[in-house]
Amino acid sequence: MFWRDLFYLAFPNLCPACEKPLPQKASFICSYCFETLPKTAFHGQKENAATNLFRGRYPFDRVTSALYFSKDGSVQKILHSIKYKGNTSLAESLGEWYGKVLFSENTLANAPCFVPVPLHEKKQYQRGYNQALYWAKGLSKGYEGSFVYPALQRNLPTETQTKKGRYDRWKNVEHVFEVLPDFQPENKHIVLVDDVLTTGATLESCARALQRAGANQISVVTLAYAGG
Ligand SMILES: [Zn+2]
Repeated sequence: MFWRDLFYLAFPNLCPACEKPLPQKASFICSYCFETLPKTAFHGQKENAATNLFRGRYPFDRVTSALYFSKDGSVQKILHSIKYKGNTSLAESLGEWYGKVLFSENTLANAPCFVPVPLHEKKQYQRGYNQALYWAKGLSKGYEGSFVYPALQRNLPTETQTKKGRYDRWKNVEHVFEVLPDFQPENKHIVLVDDVLTTGATLESCARALQRAGANQISVVTLAYAGG
């Protein structure tokens, strides 16, 4: 115990949200930051801000996000830590927490199959990992659902599309994804998993690829909601 304490003093784990040293028992985020996270109630609502985003675009079974994104807030720091600092255990722990929430609220019908949205190969190579994979792993663990990766493949690179309008963004991602031949999505409740929900264009594109491959029930679960 002594050596462990000494080691901890030399290399304390910091809470990714407030950057204060984490108590040894708290593995991923301090209890204050966890309690004060801007949690949504989307999982209890069949209609919510996230489902509204897809109205007239894709008829998802359920759409839910765990947290509200706000610039310069704790969620942005968490996403940064997950995306760029290699904090995969933070992604997985948050997934496990939210998977349990979804399970206890009976949010997802049937036996959900969690499918992470793939990164473009080049991006994945640069970053070394796909953050959505760890968030999805945690979700399937907390929910005790199944998990398939990779089930989808990204065909084209996505350039920065922020300057384009919503229709152009939508058109650009229409055929970006395809379902890998080994994955059979029919008769499964596919739950697409990503870190942030912004315009929803990527998720819509994944859903269309899954639909072309025979999927008939698709939901979306993201860590953060950053839609308008
Ligand atoms: Zn904290």
